[in-house]
Amino acid sequence: MTKIHSEIFTPKRAAGDIATKRTCLRCKTIFQSEGFGERICSRCKGSVVWKSAVPAGDGRPRKR
Ligand SMILES: [Zn+2]
Repeated sequence: MTKIHSEIFTPKRAAGDIATKRTCLRCKTIFQSEGFGERICSRCKGSVVWKSAVPAGDGRPRKR
């Protein structure tokens, strides 16, 4: 099954929850998003601290 078909046959999914090209929220670059959770390009992910992408409890205590 291809990605295209899975998108067509799942109309109930959230409109944003598909793999498609999106504009990076950080640098406005068009990139290939894997789905709803992908809102910034891989380059930004690797260069900035993205809260939703960082798993809690990475060994560093959180202090304000
Ligand atoms: Zn970016």
